[in-house]
Amino acid sequence: MDVDVNPNGRESAAVVPMSAGGGSQALTWKVEAGPDGLIRVSLRGEVDENANLVKLASDMKGRVTLDLADVRRINSAGVREWVNFVRNLPNVEEMEFVRCSPTIVNQLNMIYNFRGEAVVKTFFAPYLCEHCDVEVDVLLDVDVHFHDRDPKHVPEFRCQHCGNLLEFDDIPERYFAFVAQV
Ligand SMILES: [Zn+2]
Repeated sequence: MDVDVNPNGRESAAVVPMSAGGGSQALTWKVEAGPDGLIRVSLRGEVDENANLVKLASDMKGRVTLDLADVRRINSAGVREWVNFVRNLPNVEEMEFVRCSPTIVNQLNMIYNFRGEAVVKTFFAPYLCEHCDVEVDVLLDVDVHFHDRDPKHVPEFRCQHCGNLLEFDDIPERYFAFVAQV
């Protein structure tokens, strides 16, 4: 099975330049038109009390794919704003979450209604190779890797460097809990 590695994985995240205000990175997004009128919205940065989710909501209409790979941090104020945001998208007909970062996955597991009406399609999961001492976030597809919706079935991958089996670097029943609901 091919391993799709997050180019912005944890190894490179450590060298992202910090802005002046104590390392926080304001939320920005990019809107792209896809085929069949689909809109792809890619978020980057942190969801906190400064994130302009009202403006983001006004940019979203029709069928929306929300790319969440580069959402690195959410604080408690951000969670409250986010839950209101997904609940109130009058112009959105359908929404899916793709490439959810581990930060997003943790929220999906902890916060009731974090995804609203959205369907979670793909997400990153933390693996490591003990032999090479490397951490790698592997992109998983809910329909492909969890077609039985069982959080205990950890997908297996091999290290691209040495070929050894990668080890899942979290608690499966906790990290994959949300797949039972999507
Ligand atoms: Zn290895």
